[in-house]
Amino acid sequence: MTAVAAVEADVGGCLCGAVRFSVAAEPIWSAYCHCNSCRHATGSPVAAFVGFNQESVHFRGDARRLFSSSPGVERSYCATCGSPLSYRSVRWPNEIHLYTSTFDHPIAYPPTFHVHWAEKLPWLVITDSLPKHDHASSHMDAADASLSLSDTGVPVDLQTAK
Ligand SMILES: [Zn+2]
Ligand SMILES: [Zn+2]
Repeated sequence: MTAVAAVEADVGGCLCGAVRFSVAAEPIWSAYCHCNSCRHATGSPVAAFVGFNQESVHFRGDARRLFSSSPGVERSYCATCGSPLSYRSVRWPNEIHLYTSTFDHPIAYPPTFHVHWAEKLPWLVITDSLPKHDHASSHMDAADASLSLSDTGVPVDLQTAK
């Protein structure tokens, strides 16, 4: 085979197919986010994300549109069909968070905890026994040893920055 064989296979993308992505490593974590920003960005009552090291995710196809939903936050989406594709924050500078449902096989990444549970819609009934964090989660900070923020020690502007 040629060098092309070294390129990772696409594992997900947007609704129209103009943007596709591949991942070169296992995810760091998988979680639900109940924050108001994610609700608006996805048009859904809850978002599910898979966190990866930034270097292990590669996008192909059309250039994504970028939107800063909070200071230090960058969300990307398909310029053609509008599918949300990624989330990055200065809080986790080495990470990129992909929306679980944009994977071709989202069944591979079951969420293991909830974040921003304090913002959950009251009519959304969830009965799982997963850990539920009122704001962001220390789970997500464990990947970056330089951060030691706890659920209660996070500045307010970061608690709402998802
Ligand atoms: Zn698209
Ligand atoms: Zn969120």
